Amino acid sequence: NYIIELNNVFKMYENSEFYAVENFNLKVKKGEFVTFLGPSGCGKTTTLRMIAGFELPTSGEILLNGRDISLLPPHKRPINTVFQRYALFQHLNVYDNIAFGLKLKKIPCEVLDKDGNKVLDKNGNPKIKYKHLDKQVIHEKVSNALKIVDLEGFEKRPISTLSGGQQQRIAIARAIVNEPEILLLDEPLGALDLKMRKEMQLELKAMHKQLGITFIYVTHDQEEALTMSDTIVVMNDGNIQQIGDPKGIYDEPI
Ligand code: ADP
Ligand code: ADP
Repeated sequence: NYIIELNNVFKMYENSEFYAVENFNLKVKKGEFVTFLGPSGCGKTTTLRMIAGFELPTSGEILLNGRDISLLPPHKRPINTVFQRYALFQHLNVYDNIAFGLKLKKIPCEVLDKDGNKVLDKNGNPKIKYKHLDKQVIHEKVSNALKIVDLEGFEKRPISTLSGGQQQRIAIARAIVNEPEILLLDEPLGALDLKMRKEMQLELKAMHKQLGITFIYVTHDQEEALTMSDTIVVMNDGNIQQIGDPKGIYDEPI
């Protein structure tokens, strides 16, 4: 009953002679806020990229709702990621940035005749066609995502007119607009100044509560991990050193 499980996961990059991640074992509950904490180079991003399905483990397995993610089609992998650098399309406005993935998405629909009855195929099954989402539906989803990140009404704003904190909120809106089960965040506050970082920590925590989805968060900032997480995975040199809640980790100095 875990949303994510990593069992004996090892990762050695092809051009490398050491393990970037070594014997990683973790079970994540649905709705949990889990943070990978550790210094630069300890394997946090590599682990996150394996969970996203961008990288395959050298050995071991990663399960998403009990199923090996390497066997899932790409669109079913938890690829919704927010990075340190917002990676927004600078030439598009806020609406087009957030709606980008939604506009490409196609959903199966039953074909109806002019009387509203289902059209059947030659095997007697309902005939299906793939349709883009209605403009109205996309509009509502974008508007709702903007509400969640507290930037209501920002649809028409060019990205270049937004502050760093606002751009990072747009990146978060873009990641949650598809209603993912899991949100992956790789040092999402790393490029912000201290004041904005503190503010966004609290907002992210509130957002996690409101959305009720699983957050996997990467940071090298101990204070940030302690503020936001349900569970902290302390990493060093590709290994897990400690797993615990902020209280437990704090009692046992890192
Ligand atoms: P962190 O996110 O904790 O900074 P990474 O997961 O990025 O750590 O890196 C873990 C180790 O793997 C580091 O030694 C890094 O140099 C190495 N590494 C990361 N990406 C690659 C790659 N594409 N090819 C080879 N080595 C890599
Ligand atoms: P911060 O306080 O994080 O440094 P800024 O000073 O960049 O943020 O922006 C403050 C406000 O001014 C924000 O609402 C931002 O959207 C707006 N703003 C910044 N630059 C421009 C611009 N070139 N055109 C229109 N609005 C802008």
